[in-house]
Amino acid sequence: MGIKVKAIVIGATDYKEKDKRITLFSLEKGKIYATLKSVKSPNAKLKFAKELFCFGDFFIDTPSMIVTGVDVENNMFELTKDIDKYYIACAILDVVNTVLKEGETNAPLFLETLKALGAIAYDNVNDKYVLIKYLLSVFSAMGYFVALSNCSVCGEKFSGKRYLNLDFGEVVCVACKSANCIEISARAGTALKLLSETDYDKLSTLKLSKGSEDEVLNILNINFDRRFNKKLKLL
Ligand SMILES: [Zn+2]
Repeated sequence: MGIKVKAIVIGATDYKEKDKRITLFSLEKGKIYATLKSVKSPNAKLKFAKELFCFGDFFIDTPSMIVTGVDVENNMFELTKDIDKYYIACAILDVVNTVLKEGETNAPLFLETLKALGAIAYDNVNDKYVLIKYLLSVFSAMGYFVALSNCSVCGEKFSGKRYLNLDFGEVVCVACKSANCIEISARAGTALKLLSETDYDKLSTLKLSKGSEDEVLNILNINFDRRFNKKLKLL
């Protein structure tokens, strides 16, 4: 028996002497683990399938979960040629690996992940914008709305400063802020809003004030750590 899934490699570790264990994010079965046998030799038929970001149809024997074949649709080779792109793309895999539980399917997140990686690989875009947008979608899918224009407690429209409440992952105004809050400057607030409202394929046209992407990423990384107990590695 076997299964065929459309999937992307989101993790890979050495296994036994010659094998690799790969983590796949698949459309049909969610996050699953599979084994690539004798794949470390340069002549191995499936050697490309042990690389992060490899995307295609995976044929997997069950219940052994040994990969028997892969039709590669895109190996996203561009992501491994540039260290900055590579780091941001790895951060995206880190996010998806953290938020997805084994066997949990999530078609919207699957498509979002492909879009984000594709934008980093092929669009002339600030890669940090892509990661910010991706994090915002992940947060909002889980009910944490970081990019709103109104205070999540009193509903008042923000003017100037706002604060991220680290206990709840929500953004509040100065009147509603508690002790465990970090400030989001006006420019970071604008950046959050613009990034959440711009599609991936339009991100290359967006220009935010210099440095605001780093400020936003830092805030989102703290929020991610508080929500999921995991700090993303960023350059
Ligand atoms: Zn308020």
